[in-house]
Amino acid sequence: MSNMAALDTLERPLRDLRISVTDRCNFRCPYCMPKEVFGRDYSFLPREELLSFEEITRLARIFVANGVEKLRLTGGEPLLRRDLETLVSMLAEIDGVEDLAMTTNGSLLAPRANILKAAGLKRVTISVDSLDEAVFKVMNDVDFPLDAVLEAIEAANDAGLTPIKLDMVVKRGVNDADILDMARYFRGSGHIVRFIEYMDVGNTNGWRLDDVVPAAEIISRINAVWPIEPLPANYPGEVAERFRYVDGKGEIGVIASVTQPFCGGCTRARLTADGQLFTCLFATKGYNLKKLLRAGASNAEIERYIRSVWGARDDRYSELRASNTIPLEKVEMSRIGG
Ligand code: SF4
Repeated sequence: MSNMAALDTLERPLRDLRISVTDRCNFRCPYCMPKEVFGRDYSFLPREELLSFEEITRLARIFVANGVEKLRLTGGEPLLRRDLETLVSMLAEIDGVEDLAMTTNGSLLAPRANILKAAGLKRVTISVDSLDEAVFKVMNDVDFPLDAVLEAIEAANDAGLTPIKLDMVVKRGVNDADILDMARYFRGSGHIVRFIEYMDVGNTNGWRLDDVVPAAEIISRINAVWPIEPLPANYPGEVAERFRYVDGKGEIGVIASVTQPFCGGCTRARLTADGQLFTCLFATKGYNLKKLLRAGASNAEIERYIRSVWGARDDRYSELRASNTIPLEKVEMSRIGG
């Protein structure tokens, strides 16, 4: 296998693989999986269509051999996939995996944090859209209590799944009034709150630009109370822009896909639970790796295919968003896990 990082048409190396292990979730966040669309009758992927842990691990090994250093488990809600710890331990054994992380809504994490850590998970990103109980419930739309997620943050911290990142998707008029409370609560905790601009992911969240609170406004609101200053990126292509509190009380981040696109450094590929490769969060087309796997293709054949897909990649949706006039049939966020 090659060991040379695959480069796309904009010379962006393939460095990160986000692996969605299920399209199901126990939340119905309106910005990702609105209840009206993802209701009782919605047909989620049947079990036999899901990649097995062996298939996911085989693909991950090929991606790592072609430059991937960071694996992130996502969903839907990844902890809904049974025995996820087993997959974690299989992925943790792959030579060359420098980082193995998971993005979760935290609802199922508390009792499993230690087992996941023991299996080889390095760290977690937990979604927390508000510290106001009522707003939190509006944002998950299944009346799920905030306390359980706060417990999960503590359990993850105790288990050593750190540094913990806490993602807040900010929507004007819904939870933007909670930005300062979120900053205040986690200042000095060691956890990193990342404020995310509300995005037009998928086709079902009714996105409007008016509902976006620009990162610059979020930063200026926080800076007015607790002075902050920029920090350099931890690595090329890091999604969040980093800031530190001048008084030493830690770090925050903003993810500004709408107002400050970062496609130029995007090194992320995404694998769906049914084995489709997507090269952008806002992609309209996936590439079927499961078909190759189940047709008996060799690792070399699959590698060639992955390299040809990445090699032809020219995605920069966020940079072109404003000039997009044709509505696109984009992949749903819950299928590729953000
Ligand atoms: S819009 Fe697509 S290409 Fe741009 S940063 Fe996001 S995932 Fe990468």
